[in-house]
Amino acid sequence: MKEMNVRVGIPRALLYYRYFPLWKSFFETLGLEMVVSPSTTEEMIRQGSKFLPGDLCLPVKIFFGHVESIKREVDFLFIPRYISVEPNAYMCPKLMGLPDMVLCAMGDLPPLIDLPIHNKAQGMGAERNFYLKVGERFVKNRQHIQQAYLNGMERQRRFREALQKGFSFEEAVHQSEALDRSDTTSRKDGRMKLGIIGRPYCLYDPFLSHTVIKQVEERGYQICTTEAASEQEIQKSMERLRKRIYWSYGKEMVGAAIHFGQLENMEGLINLASFGCGQDSFNFELIQHYTRGEVPILSLILDEPVSKVGFSTRIDAFLEMIARRKSRP
Ligand code: SF4
Repeated sequence: MKEMNVRVGIPRALLYYRYFPLWKSFFETLGLEMVVSPSTTEEMIRQGSKFLPGDLCLPVKIFFGHVESIKREVDFLFIPRYISVEPNAYMCPKLMGLPDMVLCAMGDLPPLIDLPIHNKAQGMGAERNFYLKVGERFVKNRQHIQQAYLNGMERQRRFREALQKGFSFEEAVHQSEALDRSDTTSRKDGRMKLGIIGRPYCLYDPFLSHTVIKQVEERGYQICTTEAASEQEIQKSMERLRKRIYWSYGKEMVGAAIHFGQLENMEGLINLASFGCGQDSFNFELIQHYTRGEVPILSLILDEPVSKVGFSTRIDAFLEMIARRKSRP
């Protein structure tokens, strides 16, 4: 296949918010053109909902809206089948079956790039094998593909490092691409901290999250998102649980919340959960149980009818409660 002018469509939803720097670098190194769908809008949710039953979670409906918005502009749609990214945990079944759901509900689509990533079955090389196989669809030179994968992994490493240092999603993407690495000092400072717990696609899609991160930051807090907790910190938190969590993102969320609950200057946690997500309701119970008495928690449910004003009012009330609690003698 010709290397240039092949357009690969990437829906700006779900795992885009975890892996975008890797995907971008990988496809660009291979010489392919990436078409990323525009930012989420209400119309996209309406479009996505047309294909799905009402009780499915909002992030999946949004994903369908993004696919709809770019499907006519691209030669391929990149919808990998993420089954497991670590040895002892799985991704959500909706993410595992995402390519099937899209094909079945939407039809009339460009070919999908929907190979699986199944670390539990294929071992630690699963991710590398996935990218090598994807690359082989477009490029013959294996060394070139290998280099594209390594470049992508390096970008991804820098991206995660920037998130851990307290940079926003957009800043972390920028940091991952910056040739000049001088501005990578930590964003953590002496301000009061507030933890925001959620899946990356709930936290970083400004439309879906009603810009919660920005709203809390504007009220003077330093934000710690789930991804600010390191793997070691999450593992340490997991030692307090009586049973292992088998879902990767559930583990991250509960682990980060427990860790944040023990930090100095951590004034509270906001838990962002999706309506229609069974795992999120379970995670919230665990978070409440294991942080009881350590920090106050506000739970916000992401759903279609919720207004941004309603969110802001609840955030204001929560922060006021924190301030009153602090001023008590
Ligand atoms: S984990 Fe929850 S929010 Fe995410 S795709 Fe699955 S059901 Fe939806």
